[in-house]
Amino acid sequence: MKETREVTYKCGHIRPRKVDLDNLEEGLAYYLNKNCPSCAFKERHAAEYSATPEERAAEATKAAAWCAANGCCKLVGSEKQVAWAESIRYKFISANVADLQKLVDDGASQEILDKANALINERKNNSDVKWWINRRWSKAMLHDVAALTE
Ligand SMILES: [Zn+2]
Repeated sequence: MKETREVTYKCGHIRPRKVDLDNLEEGLAYYLNKNCPSCAFKERHAAEYSATPEERAAEATKAAAWCAANGCCKLVGSEKQVAWAESIRYKFISANVADLQKLVDDGASQEILDKANALINERKNNSDVKWWINRRWSKAMLHDVAALTE
């Protein structure tokens, strides 16, 4: 039988969870060995959470410089949104540009290279800060140029 109990996670947070009363000890031990969902999320994105405002500003400046030097369009939005979106598109576009270089080095077909360039240019011309911010955790977008060969 399952019942909702207050369980304690490794991080110390207590959350209601359905536990199997026939295996109560095991169930409680399971939660004691892992972080709660919000701590686990923060851990996965530690870099974003541990950065100080100064570090984030420095990152945004670096991202803006890279984007400008690599032909990305000007972003449209509030100053804060633009700085945030700048870091996000830098992360995605620079990863895809690096993957494109690998495709070139590996002798990918012209068709693949054209597709990769089209995809990267489309991103470079996307000035919509909300579009970027909404996709900030996307894993697929980091490597969709590399995925063109799959
Ligand atoms: Zn926690």
